[in-house]
Amino acid sequence: MALLQIAEPGQAPKPHQRRLAVGIDLGTTNSLVAALRSGISEPLPDANGQVILPSAVRYHAERVEVGQSAKDAAATDPLNTIISVKRLMGRGISDVKHLGGQLPYRFTGGESHMPFIETVQGPKSPVEVSADILKVLRQRAEETLGGELVGAVITVPAYFDDAQRQATKDAAKLAGLTVLRLLNEPTAAAVAYGLDQNAEGVVAIYDLGGGTFDISILRLTGGVFEVMATGGDSALGGDDFDHAIATWIIAEAGLSDDLDPAAQRRLMQTACAAKESLTDADSVEVVHGDWQGLLTRAAFDALIEPMIARSLKACRRAVRDCGIELDEVEAVVMVGGSTRVPRVREAVAELFGRQPLTEIDPDQVVAIGAAIQADTLAGNKRDGGELLLLDVIPLSLGLETMGGLMEKVIPRNTTIPVARAQEFTTYKDGQSAMMIHVLQGERELISDCRSLARFDLRGIPAMVAGAAKIRVTFQVDADGLLSVSARELASGVESSIQVKPSYGLTDGEITRMLKDSFQYASDDMVARALREQQVDAQRLLEAVEGALQADGERLLDAEERMVIDLQMEELRELMKGNDGPAIEQQTKRLSQVTDAFAARRLDSTVKAALSGRNLNEIEE
Ligand code: ADP
Ligand code: MG
Repeated sequence: MALLQIAEPGQAPKPHQRRLAVGIDLGTTNSLVAALRSGISEPLPDANGQVILPSAVRYHAERVEVGQSAKDAAATDPLNTIISVKRLMGRGISDVKHLGGQLPYRFTGGESHMPFIETVQGPKSPVEVSADILKVLRQRAEETLGGELVGAVITVPAYFDDAQRQATKDAAKLAGLTVLRLLNEPTAAAVAYGLDQNAEGVVAIYDLGGGTFDISILRLTGGVFEVMATGGDSALGGDDFDHAIATWIIAEAGLSDDLDPAAQRRLMQTACAAKESLTDADSVEVVHGDWQGLLTRAAFDALIEPMIARSLKACRRAVRDCGIELDEVEAVVMVGGSTRVPRVREAVAELFGRQPLTEIDPDQVVAIGAAIQADTLAGNKRDGGELLLLDVIPLSLGLETMGGLMEKVIPRNTTIPVARAQEFTTYKDGQSAMMIHVLQGERELISDCRSLARFDLRGIPAMVAGAAKIRVTFQVDADGLLSVSARELASGVESSIQVKPSYGLTDGEITRMLKDSFQYASDDMVARALREQQVDAQRLLEAVEGALQADGERLLDAEERMVIDLQMEELRELMKGNDGPAIEQQTKRLSQVTDAFAARRLDSTVKAALSGRNLNEIEE
């Protein structure tokens, strides 16, 4: 990722040449690749017209089989057929041991504590297995689109941590794909519905798949989604609906419930088929062996009600975690095959008090959104020329203020182009120049941020400290050029600079700086407070020193003078240390003991003014 730019200089798209980029939904059960074709984002089919690629990989001694045929072999060749590998991504060998019993694989730990799965082709890491899925999708895309891809946007669950995200990136690299960006699955779904075109608002993404349920609450501001809360249940999905129907069949048919695996599988297939039929029909004739019965949709709805209730409970909790009310959610997006079930849609509509968005195929919506984002990031223009910019500033931009503090002017994650202004003032009486130091980073102290540029604003008319108003404007244009200008408002003197930090930071550096900022946030707050307390103290000391020099003799008696000197000495002593609160206390005390003196000075100034002298002379 370039620092402030979407394309590296010199890599800008040539006119009329479309840069091929795809969106990939790398799913637990199913994966898809989608791309923009003739302005429409759609999933790309394989040679047989299938868009869904089951996320199953079977290793043979000399070849790799991916997709439906591999999935079919899971029962007969379980050791060499890897399914649901997404659950292992970014996990260590010890995490995997926890999952141990549920997984049929033989694991070996590598040196890196990564779990490797023993196959006839040797040990395979989850990253390699995912790469094998991605390779098939990449090939499909290059064949369908007729060219090499410049990159891909790959989706990940919103709750994926750094290790899981990094593992996904590594898999892409291994598959020969350039990752334009990892995108959160719920964000991709929201983009597919064009919700990023709205100015702002809160949206909920309800994702009910085969085995997992995820709820994500996103806040949109200026075209950028921020994940406010995630929740769900990693063991709730359409498979549970199938089980409910299977249990019903067993009861109705008077079967024994200890079936052999083959009979179990047949029963589950019957149940799943019945469930899917009930999405369109009011009732279905269920045939199992020589038993036959009628399952109505109402009866099915009753069977799954407890599971739906569990999902709704997770929704309520996620909304509560955001500190908002259900009716503040402005759109609900349905994702995952199980959201086709009419009762699910109805229950979600009742909870949020609005119809959820369902027009886009819930299996495809994530890949479709990812493809839209990929196309934009690849630098292609949409809709006849308008450049849609979704890129954001990865780290905050700001200025150095007194005490070596970083004052953020444009916070990170702001979309570009953007312009923000902030007013600053002078620190000293008569200050005629100001150094503008432009910085980037999240930390409070400038020594922990990155310096981008410095320039001076000169010719500020002489005024008392704090009276001058200097407006500093930060502007980042669509090409990622940052310009900073400073203007003194009374006189209009102005100065500016252009910064082009396109040499940028690497992704790794950005990640480290962000991590640091989280890790050190509370330390930084203390450090910031200390600096502010020191600056306040210093300012007061200088003011009192000046006043004493000017009027000390005239307006103070010996005892008053001694009290002030004592408190000043005390403050200077404290300034040598790091005790912020003590400095603050002492600053207050000094301010109190000089109150009367300040009032007397003001009095005498007014008297002098009344006697015909001019205020400026007195200020001197
Ligand atoms: P995952 O996110 O786990 O990969 P999907 O989003 O592909 O899962 O959803 C798979 C689930 O959707 C399965 O349980 C499947 O039975 C269910 N499903 C697919 N089509 C329908 C339908 N028409 N009616 C009801 N459920 C469906
Ligand atoms: Mg899914």
